[in-house]
Amino acid sequence: MKTLYYKIRAVGVTLLLRLLPRNMPIVYSGAGSSLTLCRLAKSLGYSRVLLVTDRFLAESGLLEELTAELAAAQIEYTVFDGVQPDPAFEQVQAGEARLKEAGCEAVFAVGGGSVLDAAKMIAILHRNLGDLKFFDGIQKAKRPGLPVFAVPTTAGTGSETTPVSVITDSASHRKIAVADGKLVPHYVALDPNLMKTMPPHITASTGMDALTHAVESWLSKASTPASRELAGTATRLIFEYLPRAFENGEDIEAREAMALAAFYAGIAFGRTSVGYAHAIAHQLGRVCGTPHGDANAMVLPEVLTAYGPCVHELLAELADSAGIGKTGADAAARAGQLIDHVTQLRAGLGMSLKPRGLKKEDLPAIVRAARAEAGDLYPVQRYLSGSELTRILDNMLPAA
Ligand code: NAD
Repeated sequence: MKTLYYKIRAVGVTLLLRLLPRNMPIVYSGAGSSLTLCRLAKSLGYSRVLLVTDRFLAESGLLEELTAELAAAQIEYTVFDGVQPDPAFEQVQAGEARLKEAGCEAVFAVGGGSVLDAAKMIAILHRNLGDLKFFDGIQKAKRPGLPVFAVPTTAGTGSETTPVSVITDSASHRKIAVADGKLVPHYVALDPNLMKTMPPHITASTGMDALTHAVESWLSKASTPASRELAGTATRLIFEYLPRAFENGEDIEAREAMALAAFYAGIAFGRTSVGYAHAIAHQLGRVCGTPHGDANAMVLPEVLTAYGPCVHELLAELADSAGIGKTGADAAARAGQLIDHVTQLRAGLGMSLKPRGLKKEDLPAIVRAARAEAGDLYPVQRYLSGSELTRILDNMLPAA
């Protein structure tokens, strides 16, 4: 009965994803493209912007060239560096208050997914006053937000192109995915120069987040030839370039390829949604505080295995598209090779397989929440049972 309800919902979600009106960003990429974005802001006539970032990035010196370019373009910028990982709505409100006080005409976001999500929400909040409950859901804002210029400094979330801001409700600790086409940033720069300082563990974690977006988008029932093209390209780029970016952060070619991969995966999953790896990862983030990309990496191969034969053909095609797997092998074997490739990539990046603090007694609530999340929001190929999800989580418990 529940499965039938999920299947009907999936048809609705698929239609919504196809029809959701959304902003169409103008995108620059390559080393130095963030400076081009500053000049674009000037040409478009903006003279006062809110520069949203986090304390670490603001103090690291990473933004110096960009702020010098804004100053050279005679754009006055007010820094708001109060965004923390997994931003809470209070941080969005504080940013909006700063924006209002300084009379800013646009938002310039430079940072990881947390900064971009908060900045996108600040721009919307400024034109649509309301609390987090008001925005929880799909397409709740009545008016377009202020223009957003987005410069990602991680290659993972794809927030620079998605119609989503993930904002934490600090009362319940629940992460709320605000979905609205008006959240898609208007102007984007994928500048590898701003990603060189990412330490290996953040490179690994965010890169595995992008891979999970690509693979889950590929498998989504809402996928289309266009979304699969993007998801397949992203998967191929990540397999090739994530190990290089991890080994040598200064490898500009690898950083640029990873920036593109995260962006492509972001467009793809913004049109198809994701799957059970995300449904479980969100619960691990909430219960154990596991960083989002780490949590996705912990479960992606296990979730792909759990789907079973219904995804073999699709995974075999993804293996072909990503250039791995032996031609001539049957679909099950090629699907297995793709899953092995993900497992080996994860191992090569030295990622942990067990969330810190996960307890046996947490599992029933995690399973319930993951099933509800996937059932409500993700057009997956097959709905996993409670015992299938429990088996995945059981293997993640610390050794007795
Ligand atoms: P993050 O933005 O939380 O950043 C993690 C850490 O990396 C921070 O301490 C930050 O200061 C640091 N950092 C960022 N760039 C750096 C750089 N170039 N050099 C050195 N350090 C750097 O991490 P994230 O994974 O990019 O974003 C995670 C957030 O995005 C979560 O809240 C998640 O829920 C959300 N998310 C949003 C979407 C979306 O579509 N909007 C999709 C997936 C995840």
